[in-house]
Amino acid sequence: AEAREFQLRTGEVLDQTIYPSKPYMKSEEARLNTFGNWPASAPVQPEDLAAAGMYYLGTEDIVECFCCGQKLAGWEPGDDAWGEHAKHYPNCFFILGHDVGNVPLQT
Ligand SMILES: [Zn+2]
Repeated sequence: AEAREFQLRTGEVLDQTIYPSKPYMKSEEARLNTFGNWPASAPVQPEDLAAAGMYYLGTEDIVECFCCGQKLAGWEPGDDAWGEHAKHYPNCFFILGHDVGNVPLQT
């Protein structure tokens, strides 16, 4: 995957008070529900993306993180949702394991 709309916001990234970026998407179930029109040809599954903090924006294969608010797209075979998130946005507090209010799926 590739980073979309990468922003140099290093100063903000260090400010925990802005997280999560999209509090209404802190629930994994809410994130999963955004993937209704996720392209069937995409090599990454909605369950994996939602678990990695991402939700679908409804266009192409662009997803956004509820925590850092950054976007990923251009998913390729072999891509791992969590791995790509961590690779492009290693400062994301969800990736770093901080308590940012994520609500995991009830299993
Ligand atoms: Zn993130």
